[in-house]
Amino acid sequence: MREAATVTDEKRCLGTNQDGSECSTGSALLLPSGFCFAHDPARGLDRSVAGTLGNLKSNAKRRRGIDVGSLETAADAKRISAKLVIAIAAGELPADQGRTALAALREWRQAYEADELEQRLAELEAAQKGRAL
Ligand SMILES: [Zn+2]
Repeated sequence: MREAATVTDEKRCLGTNQDGSECSTGSALLLPSGFCFAHDPARGLDRSVAGTLGNLKSNAKRRRGIDVGSLETAADAKRISAKLVIAIAAGELPADQGRTALAALREWRQAYEADELEQRLAELEAAQKGRAL
């Protein structure tokens, strides 16, 4: 109820969202028809074109965001973290996504290093056994 009272202060889009709620787009983004770009009935065609373009764009962005190549060696991890940092700084990757990816990369590196240590230890042990015999 209180929400409705504040909404009357500003002109809002006349459209409704797919879930049936009122569109909350404010006057700054309204077209002369009183609708926002997404809800203006006269712009149905534009909207589908814009939607398709928007999807293409965001798909391309998403692909670029996660296209970091394979992750098999420590050098890969180094390359990927550099890519991530640059992508985040350039605004190509949402900060949340970047943080998540970097955190996952850290986890991977720890596991990788632990695995490498284990292997080296096993090799050392094997070498020592060989010498002892
Ligand atoms: Zn709207």
